[in-house]
Amino acid sequence: MHQFINGQRVTANSGHTKRVINPATGETVAEIDEAGADEVDAAVRAARAAVRDWSRATPAERSTVLHRFAQALGERAEEFAQLESQQAGKPIRLTREFDVPGTVDNTAFFAGAARNLEGKAAAEYSPVHTSMIRREAIGVIGSIAPWNYPLQMAAWKMLPAVAAGNAVVLKPAEITPLTSTLFAEVAHGAGLPAGVFNVVVGSGSTAGSALLHHPDVNMLSFTGSTSVGRKVLEAAAGTAKRVHLELGGKAPFVVFDDADLEAAVHGAVAGSLINAGQDCTAATRAIVHRSVYDAFVDGVATLFAKVRIGDTADPGTDMGPLVSMTHRDSVAGFVERARSYARIVVGGEAPGGDHARGSFYLPTLIADVTPAMEVFREEIFGPVLTVTPFDTDDEAFALANDTVYGLAASVWTTDVFRAMRGTREIQSGCVWVNDHIPIISEMPHGGVKQSGFGKDMSTYSFEEYTAVKHVMFDITGDREKAWHRTVFTA
Ligand code: NAP
Ligand code: MG
Repeated sequence: MHQFINGQRVTANSGHTKRVINPATGETVAEIDEAGADEVDAAVRAARAAVRDWSRATPAERSTVLHRFAQALGERAEEFAQLESQQAGKPIRLTREFDVPGTVDNTAFFAGAARNLEGKAAAEYSPVHTSMIRREAIGVIGSIAPWNYPLQMAAWKMLPAVAAGNAVVLKPAEITPLTSTLFAEVAHGAGLPAGVFNVVVGSGSTAGSALLHHPDVNMLSFTGSTSVGRKVLEAAAGTAKRVHLELGGKAPFVVFDDADLEAAVHGAVAGSLINAGQDCTAATRAIVHRSVYDAFVDGVATLFAKVRIGDTADPGTDMGPLVSMTHRDSVAGFVERARSYARIVVGGEAPGGDHARGSFYLPTLIADVTPAMEVFREEIFGPVLTVTPFDTDDEAFALANDTVYGLAASVWTTDVFRAMRGTREIQSGCVWVNDHIPIISEMPHGGVKQSGFGKDMSTYSFEEYTAVKHVMFDITGDREKAWHRTVFTA
């Protein structure tokens, strides 16, 4: 009963099942039924049927439902925190203090924002017509989400779309689907009409592909890797669907010689190890002025060695495992290859003993990295930070931009002019100054370059999930308009 279609939990009829594994223990959290094209089609039909009334609900009506939803999520916060921790291997402190309260706040934000949708004021841009803008829902949105922040990604996909009057079919990552189905169930318990938000749990190649290619889906909203993002674009071409892509990242973390070095070291540890580094905005490439390079490397290495790894149910644990053994092996592969060309300062292995049941990997610092190296170029998506020295400001910005990605970045300096230059020079969707990672409901999240396009969160996300319609009224009442003479003079 892991599908949520037309207001209720249902079981997929594919006959295929899969186990959701807690990557910290190897234990089974749940056995799920897998959706195929039939469930996707049923969910799209439910969404299509629901969207007419939902798009015509008043902003106040939509807002009221979302306020109740935020309240209900808050009441069930601990249940969400536990389930998210178990399915994704996140430390319970992270789900309690970040994933779940962030989602409750996003929901409360969109409850308010739903009442602030607007077009431009009506006016006579032509002397003989009154023009106005209607901002309208797109229709049925097909959303596909990754496994790294399953609950938050479900929320980021669903909330702006539904607040703006669309209906959504969400396919979460199959290895972490449990909080998405629960999220939908709680939404409907709070009064969301059946069919407005549906969740299909299945693999990308089956359910995901069926959703991407469904002719009755109007828009595709995807968060995940750049390689699958390209498939989304190809699929969208079939029926010219609107596309919103939140893809990979390889965030630079630029430390100037005037920076508060202790702050930069602490920021680098938190910014690179959040969610075991499985964060598209995580600090991955420290770019550090040569004069403070050794001190930075020593400082980060010392703190990396102190990070508490282990039981994700223990609030004292800092870092959990990677999401799966397969992903752990992929991260380890990058580090193993790096041994031959760079310097592994600390980490670089999976911890043994009790930890061997889970897909843990030690915080890893790789120094003396140059831009041509694989670890500088490829998204590793694990607890791995590389360090590269620079001499001049221009060199630092060039290194920061030497990537196909452009999602997030930070600059660390006490010089306000340097900080301002950094925010202009670095090509990315977000630049932090003297911090790295914080997000907030009111502010947009989204990338440039191959990190995708379009924004999540904030009222900017309404640009993705609405279309503007121009309405033009003749205000003369003339049977023969003056401009007709341009076409015919009879
Ligand atoms: P992924 O492999 O691209 O998968 C993302 C989603 O796409 C999953 O639900 C997956 O399904 C589905 N999928 C895979 N192949 C598909 C296909 N052929 N057709 C339709 N759907 C398909 O990404 P991931 O490994 O889950 O997540 C890590 C990536 O997400 C990283 O690159 C990270 O940077 C990015 N990310 C970006 C942001 C952002 O805001 N920019 C946020 C978070 C993560 P299954 O896995 O269930 O098969
Ligand atoms: Mg994947």
